[in-house]
Amino acid sequence: MDVRNLTISTIREGLAAKRFSATELTQDALSFAAAENPKTNAFLAFSPERALAAAGRVDDKLARGEDPGALAGVPVSVKDVIVTKGLTTTCGSKILETFIPPYDATAVERLEAAGGIILGKANCDEFAMGSSNENSAYGPVRNPVALDRVPGGSSGGPAATVAQGTSVVALGSDTGGSIRQPASFCGVVGVTPTYGRVSRYGLVAFASSLDHIGPFARNVEDAATLLQTIAGRDAMDSTSAFAPVPDYGPAMRKDVKGFRIGLPKEYFAGLANETRDQIEKGIDLLRQSGCETVEISLPHTEYAIACYYIVCTAEASANLARYDGVRYTMRSAQAKTLSEMYKLTRGEGFGAEVKRRIMLGTYVLSAGYYDAYYLKAQRVRALIARDFSRAFEQVDALIAPVSPFPAFRLGEKLDDPLEMYLSDIYTITGSLAGIPCMSVPCGTTGAGLPVGVQILARHFDEPGMFRLAAAFERSGGFQV
Ligand code: GLN
Repeated sequence: MDVRNLTISTIREGLAAKRFSATELTQDALSFAAAENPKTNAFLAFSPERALAAAGRVDDKLARGEDPGALAGVPVSVKDVIVTKGLTTTCGSKILETFIPPYDATAVERLEAAGGIILGKANCDEFAMGSSNENSAYGPVRNPVALDRVPGGSSGGPAATVAQGTSVVALGSDTGGSIRQPASFCGVVGVTPTYGRVSRYGLVAFASSLDHIGPFARNVEDAATLLQTIAGRDAMDSTSAFAPVPDYGPAMRKDVKGFRIGLPKEYFAGLANETRDQIEKGIDLLRQSGCETVEISLPHTEYAIACYYIVCTAEASANLARYDGVRYTMRSAQAKTLSEMYKLTRGEGFGAEVKRRIMLGTYVLSAGYYDAYYLKAQRVRALIARDFSRAFEQVDALIAPVSPFPAFRLGEKLDDPLEMYLSDIYTITGSLAGIPCMSVPCGTTGAGLPVGVQILARHFDEPGMFRLAAAFERSGGFQV
């Protein structure tokens, strides 16, 4: 069976017509993924026993005539910052090399309860800090579309498995762009839901006020189905929202005549020409589908990167204090005193980018600098969120690029952290505001590199966001 082009609905049909069983599909998917993985290094580990046990449960339900669930038999990869009971979860870090979590993340539990099949854990930047997947302690991921290029980050592994066809959908995490930017680099759909829409329970914390779990898929419908399955209130995460999860299906079938789209002028300034050309073609297509476009302004955009790197490093420095050599896995063998143990364990266990963030974060939180940096950044964050609220008084959704440029070459930006941070200039704002945003494929550059267009919507308006994305897909937008 060719597992590369399967979707959630073709799997559902195949199972119902008994063309294959979930067990057969899982076996084929596992062997295909194992054979293809050396090209990209997208999977860090496979979980054949767990996958086959889950497939067996789906087949049993089908045999008994029961509903096998919305994700029945669907092969999934899970970013390695999301905990999985009994399966090593490294966060792309040496410090957690042998960490075996004692519980499942809520999103993982829900997707398996709906019949999803976890094939394995996907590579990522260490603790989700990065934009190229080159910060993984287990080697970079290669972009399946162009193997000399990065897949983006930090969810480079999950994005690559979906683009490569070694999983049908994937779970990633996004703090400042880590789902949307790799989705755009690899030519797949990536969704950052509203903050609080999906439980963070079991997502290893990087910056708690910004962290999201969200789906990758090869089409809009699959992304919506996966989100539908994992979304909703969870008593284990007090920041998860009580708002009911609507059925995304009806919205996706509506047309977009009269839909008002805002084009934030600040997001079209520093774009690579080939990216700009593709985004403009995409916008034209939306106009042809009946959308009205208006230029709008998000005036505080220029402060977003500075604000993000204060808030996220501050939270990271606190969250990562728990890796002290006492708990979890790694402990330096040379240490003679307690403080030496902390220093040596953290010195050996963390990579350079993680150390940079811990130092920056500790600095901005320190006495005397807290007001000047952290508190000020919180105020700027509120202004950025207010820019969006004002924009949404005029328009139904915003359209913007995802990244200023397409996938770059491995190693190209490694020596220049600031240049790397600029990859996320158009994604960080949505994260700071906590609004739902997604990357949708929008054709390729002359060199064949994917470009993604970003849709941003009001808090909890995933239906509006999916409606626009599905209309764009129907009108041929993925291939403009
Ligand atoms: N690239 C950004 C960073 O390095 C965003 C990462 C993320 O969203 N996890 O922080």
